[in-house]
Amino acid sequence: MLKRVLVANRGEIAVRIIRECIDRNIETVAVYSTEDESALHVILANDAVCIGSPSPRDSYLNMENIIEAALGKQCDGIHPGFGFLSENSKFARLCRENGIKFIGPSPEIIEAMGNKAAAREMMISFDVPVVPGSDGVLKNVKDAEETAKRIGYPVLIKASAGGGGRGMRRVDSPESMERAFEEAGMEAETAFGDRDLYMEKLILNPRHIEVQVIADAYGNVIHLGERNCSIQRKNQKMLEEAPAFGLDVRTRNALCETAVKAAGVSNYEGAGTVEFVLDGENNFYFIEMNTRIQVEHPVTEMITGINIVGEQLKIASGLPLTIAQEDVRFKGHAIECRICAERPLENFAPSPGMVDFIHFPGGNGVRVESALHSGSKVSPYYDSMAGKIITYGDTRIEAVRRMRRALGEMIVRGIETTLSFQYMILYNKSFLRGDYTTAFMDENAATMIEFLKTADDMDGMI
Ligand code: ADP
Repeated sequence: MLKRVLVANRGEIAVRIIRECIDRNIETVAVYSTEDESALHVILANDAVCIGSPSPRDSYLNMENIIEAALGKQCDGIHPGFGFLSENSKFARLCRENGIKFIGPSPEIIEAMGNKAAAREMMISFDVPVVPGSDGVLKNVKDAEETAKRIGYPVLIKASAGGGGRGMRRVDSPESMERAFEEAGMEAETAFGDRDLYMEKLILNPRHIEVQVIADAYGNVIHLGERNCSIQRKNQKMLEEAPAFGLDVRTRNALCETAVKAAGVSNYEGAGTVEFVLDGENNFYFIEMNTRIQVEHPVTEMITGINIVGEQLKIASGLPLTIAQEDVRFKGHAIECRICAERPLENFAPSPGMVDFIHFPGGNGVRVESALHSGSKVSPYYDSMAGKIITYGDTRIEAVRRMRRALGEMIVRGIETTLSFQYMILYNKSFLRGDYTTAFMDENAATMIEFLKTADDMDGMI
């Protein structure tokens, strides 16, 4: 097994990984920016190295400093978590060149999947269904207009290096193509330093369903079932559940088999997620493969009993998978709410600040993943996700009730969060029926905001 792992991340995922290492008797080295000196991940790790100033560019994205820290502390592995350097092939290569195991797939696979236009082409060559769209990268606006004409409006322009919904534009008619093309290109350039765009037909009101896979270094690939992540705001997930309620067995099996095939043909190694959109007729289309641990991995852990971060550590240590596909048993239902430090009433603007007091929920079937504690700080420099609440039940309604209980019990003072918003989702009819698409927020957010506003005004009156 790996002996000492540097965790190249912060926040709840760094804490999740460090806790896992503690459970497995693996030593940990945390890295931190000057903003995070007293953060929980720093406190929990065996050792910690400051890698720079608050701006991610100078610290959590600073490859040289991180590698230097790992070498200085004699680490034999680096876990990148998600975000930051987790899908950076250059970083994975640097790890390899320095004799440190990057806990994730090879730089070649990261590269192949990270270029989404190329990954699409690769999936086409393996007969994996993709959304009708451009042949690779769009050359110019004219190419974009011609492709849109061929596949039919509405279309989506997407950034080839994309992630987090950035560099993505819906285009409904030829008149708005030029502007959307320019805007998406600029956004992609700013976010990823790469202007390349590709196009997909916009699937109207799809469901976002993804499949968790794990693969060892010896060609064994299994899936751990699917997650429904259709409750999204601006293409960012807010609430996820496993399994995907109401998905028929045939579609589910086909999705999972396709995901295993996609991972198998690309010689994948480690934990990965194959993402699909499903239309109203249950036709599914590959949209991307994420070559890292996902935020929503706990829902899968809860229903399979398989520890995904643990598996990552074993695979990176060169151990073969000890679970065969037929050993994977699905039991019960799990839901996750991402608690973000945001102000729902101000268009979800970030709400950084000092957490004066926090009380986390507990009890049967409740799991908390967070780096927050009373007196900790939510920094404006980093992502607004402050933690996750996961509930488990024998049935979906039991998981829903437990989530209502958990969110109702949680208290956070000092920052605003999305908690009350998610609480309302748990009472929404379409959500309760399991009958919802990525249009859920467009259809429901305004009513929920109105309700929140009224509640806020009433509070002011008392
Ligand atoms: P990113 O990597 O930026 O997160 P994705 O390709 O994963 O981008 O897409 C993010 C979300 O955008 C999806 O979950 C889905 O809701 C929506 N989306 C992506 N492609 C399509 C499509 N072709 N049609 C409809 N919705 C899509």
